[in-house]
Amino acid sequence: MARSKDCKTACRHRFNNDTDGPVKFLWIDYDGQEHAYATVFPGQSHIQDTYTSHPWRARVADTGAEIGEYVGPGATLTVLPGARLRVEPGLQPRRPPDMHVAPWGWYRQRGRCARGHPIYAFDCVPDAAVRLAAFTMDCMTAHLPAPAVSRMHGWGAFLAIIGRGQVTTDIPQYAQYRGQDSGNGGGRVETATRGLGGGTSNPVSSVGEENLTMEDDVHYGCESILIHEWAHAVMDLGYAEQPLQAEIVECWKAAEKRGTYVKGSYIISNPGEYWAEASQAWFEATMRDDVTSGLKTRDAVKRADPWLASLLTRVYGDGPWRYWHTCPRPFTGDEARWQAGRALGGRTVPPVAPYQAVGGAELGWPAQAGPPQPTGPTPRPDQRRRRRRSASKWVEEVTETLAGMLKKL
Ligand SMILES: [Zn+2]
Repeated sequence: MARSKDCKTACRHRFNNDTDGPVKFLWIDYDGQEHAYATVFPGQSHIQDTYTSHPWRARVADTGAEIGEYVGPGATLTVLPGARLRVEPGLQPRRPPDMHVAPWGWYRQRGRCARGHPIYAFDCVPDAAVRLAAFTMDCMTAHLPAPAVSRMHGWGAFLAIIGRGQVTTDIPQYAQYRGQDSGNGGGRVETATRGLGGGTSNPVSSVGEENLTMEDDVHYGCESILIHEWAHAVMDLGYAEQPLQAEIVECWKAAEKRGTYVKGSYIISNPGEYWAEASQAWFEATMRDDVTSGLKTRDAVKRADPWLASLLTRVYGDGPWRYWHTCPRPFTGDEARWQAGRALGGRTVPPVAPYQAVGGAELGWPAQAGPPQPTGPTPRPDQRRRRRRSASKWVEEVTETLAGMLKKL
């Protein structure tokens, strides 16, 4: 009979459920008794820390029927249709199964960013939104250190796009959050959010289609939710169990103590939001003063919180790209800033096909020549010169606008 033995060798498993019903994973203790640790919903995955001498058993949640069990070093256990258990060594990246839901069509991999992270969406999400997501992820993570990228792959990080006509919990990997409180004071997850950040308990980050295209975004028309949520994934997955994560916590504590930010504002509410809001400021991807406590530009971060600026530089580098250079439409109420972005030579249209559409049969990791490298962060010298000239013109324009505004006041 299976039972746990005393052992000091820690390991980590990934439990996947590729069936259409929930599956329970149970730990078998020193007396052979079962303890339910995780219920994994269809198409979802769970990471479990354990020991190499501790057996784990999978059962169909609804009927209790036994599927199989495993004991040994870190592995990926996938329950396949027909209630079979597939065991693979180590933590395999998660590849969610294709899923068809009327009327949205198929949920499948639609592309991936330059660092290899898959982008999933239903057919109802247009290709343009997928391209914009990939492009922004490319610019944001162009300088992200390779070890962080591979840790994100190890955790199975990917992006899901919420269709304009969908709610957050329509993303299959969020099905378990239906009806739950969002925790942000806005009510339930499905109505109070248009994107979530990936973490170790669920590596899926998300963003609404309308926030990528900036087309009639009535929720977050003046900030990039993708940069906010992907920043959570970078911190929680790219730096999981790394010293940098502890340093972000220390940096946050110091900022709170110093009173750098308005007490009670979102940015200082916890280390995760501190990092995500600061990442938005680093790439100048927000116009909001309320949640950011006024921290909206890279210069402002460097001035107000130099320690934080040094951490952001280690993670993202200090390149020239800013979100508003390439934002496809003006932030709500900010036509002038958008025009300024255009004047800086930023693209208003993402590069041609930075990803390859994947057919159902070749689901997973498409073989491809590789997406073009983002041009934003590393302009060639001639572009740099052109940008500088445009920037001075832009300063003139902004000065004019400000003068006009002052006259009105
Ligand atoms: Zn957040």
